[in-house]
Amino acid sequence: MSDQNKYVLTEADLPKEWYNINPDMPVDPAKTAWNAVLHPATKEPVTPDFLAVLFPMRFIGEAVSMERWIEIPEPVREIYKLWRPSPLYRARRLEKALDTPAHIYYKYEGVSPVGSHKPNTAIPQAFYAKEEGVTGFTTETGAGQWGSAMSMACNFFDLECHVYMVKVSYNQKPYRRIIMETFGATVTPSPSNKTQYGQKVLADNPDSLGSLGIAISEAVEAAATSNGKYKYSLGSVLGPVLMHQTIIGLEAIKQFDMAGEYPDMVIGCVGGGSNFAGFTFPFIHKNLTEGQKTRVIAVEPTACPSLTKGKYTFDYGDTAQMAPIVKMHTLGHNFVPEGIHAGGLRYHGMAPHVSALVDSGHIEAVALDQVDTFEGASIFARAEGIVPAPESAHAIRAAINEALKCKEEGVKKVIAFNLSGHGLFDLGAYDEYMKGNLKRFEYPAERITESMKELPEVTLQGA
Ligand SMILES: *Cc1c(COP(=O)(O)O)cnc(C)c1O
Repeated sequence: MSDQNKYVLTEADLPKEWYNINPDMPVDPAKTAWNAVLHPATKEPVTPDFLAVLFPMRFIGEAVSMERWIEIPEPVREIYKLWRPSPLYRARRLEKALDTPAHIYYKYEGVSPVGSHKPNTAIPQAFYAKEEGVTGFTTETGAGQWGSAMSMACNFFDLECHVYMVKVSYNQKPYRRIIMETFGATVTPSPSNKTQYGQKVLADNPDSLGSLGIAISEAVEAAATSNGKYKYSLGSVLGPVLMHQTIIGLEAIKQFDMAGEYPDMVIGCVGGGSNFAGFTFPFIHKNLTEGQKTRVIAVEPTACPSLTKGKYTFDYGDTAQMAPIVKMHTLGHNFVPEGIHAGGLRYHGMAPHVSALVDSGHIEAVALDQVDTFEGASIFARAEGIVPAPESAHAIRAAINEALKCKEEGVKKVIAFNLSGHGLFDLGAYDEYMKGNLKRFEYPAERITESMKELPEVTLQGA
């Protein structure tokens, strides 16, 4: 059908396996050390015991698995079916608004109950913890997207959920907190006096408004000192998280079959890299194994440009230097980005898989300013009717730029992007944009140079 707007799969079409890119990574781990995970204190490769304190064993097993296809457990598929398969849209009205010969498609993850892709990994993580018989999870959240996904997942599996929420968001954005509490989670503003690390931060600065780094450190401490009662969950960066998200791209490939087209380029925004990887890795698999030549484009904010301006090296995953050291594109673990509205993209590092594939040339990276991304988001909202999350707006703007290039050159290309979430809890940001209050953030060269001075020294073969 030539005038179709959305491609919808049935529940029976829901993929039965996730795609694990580990066996297909086109880089030699022995030479590049891209997948090394080092202990933050000893700087030696970590043992499974170290990780088992924090993560369910099945999750750790997925991190090191070399099986290309990993079965999605039936209880996870059952819950996925509450909102999956998600629709693939042809953005015909956007094409018209831009007057471009390009065909623009977007995969919409905002249809999940909490409005983003994050439940795709929260559900299996909660299921694995339930299997191991733990009491619940601790986790952190910035603006609240990951916290709401994890709260919902824990609720489905009858687990406790204890969320450390960055204090400034806790005070300014009560709606996400209310969702988490509706699912039965406890939400603590961080820094708090519930943990030793939080007490230390508060002793130094009683008025601290917190940061994601501090909240991670509190959640990790709470799990690590619980004698196995609680596990810790992370919503991005780690290999199994990226793999759980591949349900997005695997569905999209089936939907492109229905549409009778195949993308010339696939685009996603990157914070820690999970929605981007989830959408694009199945297409990278086809590039690697079936000779497809789809361009793969990661989009980040100019205010936090780890892929385009960071260094590809070893760094700590968190500010307090309690999380493992991994090789990734980083701005330095002490780098604190400007308070842009795309809170989910304010991470100093990047998923090691994504970093390695940027380094090897399989993924391109671009950085966009928030004023331009909100302009793109408004064009999109007015054409398609969906107000996107400020994070997702980065992918939208990059897709619009490519579509305008097609117009200039008079070529028809098929452009696809992942719309990772809706922006109905981010309307304050839209208000600021419309009032002209948003700032442009140039590449913060001096601050990055400063934060790069404190990278850990690692001597590892292949590094
Ligand atoms: C959390 C979030 C992101 C960024 O995280 P990734 O792991 O890079 O995907 C992007 N979009 C939305 C809507 C989010 O909630």
